[in-house]
Amino acid sequence: MSKVMKTMRLQHEFCEFVPGNLKPGTLYISMEYGTAVHLCVCGCGQKVVTPLSPTDWKLIYDGDTVSLDPSIGNWSFDCQSHYWIKKNRVIFSKKWTDDEIKENRKFDQEVKADYFNDSKRVIPKSESGFFEFVKDLFRKK
Ligand SMILES: [Zn+2]
Repeated sequence: MSKVMKTMRLQHEFCEFVPGNLKPGTLYISMEYGTAVHLCVCGCGQKVVTPLSPTDWKLIYDGDTVSLDPSIGNWSFDCQSHYWIKKNRVIFSKKWTDDEIKENRKFDQEVKADYFNDSKRVIPKSESGFFEFVKDLFRKK
């Protein structure tokens, strides 16, 4: 990967089940399972799973394009690529230093701890459980 920031386009596909053979450049989104999956955009072929939940990723669908928030840092892959998906565009970022990766993991854990320590909150069993929880929430009204 060059140091020059570049952008590339992705397609998105809403589906119930994510197919076994992923097409490169496609972001598969399963609302059923509250998960988005894509192949690492650097071309290394690794599968990147981004769970959609209050403590993981947010999916923003504007009716035409999708964005994921926060950025995607594939620290566990050899490529260690780091990028944002914004309005179906991949925006590459610089590689993080080990310290930045550590800081980010710590922040992530704190956010999760705060969320799950809130006793007033009903804790979903899983990401998909969270959607069941939301459905039930509306059913009861
Ligand atoms: Zn990669």
